[in-house]
Amino acid sequence: MQFMNTWKVPGGDQLVYLQQQPLEVFGRYIQDGTDSKEAGGILLGHVRGEHLEIIEATEPSTMDRRFRYLFERMTFFHHRLAMKRWSDSHGLIRYVGEWHTHPQDYPTPSSTDLHEWQILAADRRDERPLLALIVGCQSLHVEYMHCTGKRQVLKHGVE
Ligand SMILES: [Zn+2]
Repeated sequence: MQFMNTWKVPGGDQLVYLQQQPLEVFGRYIQDGTDSKEAGGILLGHVRGEHLEIIEATEPSTMDRRFRYLFERMTFFHHRLAMKRWSDSHGLIRYVGEWHTHPQDYPTPSSTDLHEWQILAADRRDERPLLALIVGCQSLHVEYMHCTGKRQVLKHGVE
């Protein structure tokens, strides 16, 4: 399974590019078994002009329960890591969003996901939209959630 690494905001030129590390992490947690649990973490990236490069996806930590729903996650570990990356990189690498898995081939967000993403987007201090990503068995779902609740679902590939 190789997920697409380049995603495009419809109606614009903005790209989201996934480096190899996040793609490998997603591949390890694909929810294709009947009793597999939802997994997830945060996305760390680098803003390049209007584009976004995702450098790292954190893996479920030993401090996390493997959670059934997004809101059950313990965010402490992930956000502490985000702060460390931010300071180690002198502000180049920052928290950009969240990822989790769904046991669907072509995943779609639940109403709980949308609600949770909107809360996270409203919490962002840099006022950038939240990058929200779901790992399915065949494809990724990638979208920007704005603090207003406006959604931009990205399409894969470069046209
Ligand atoms: Zn979900």
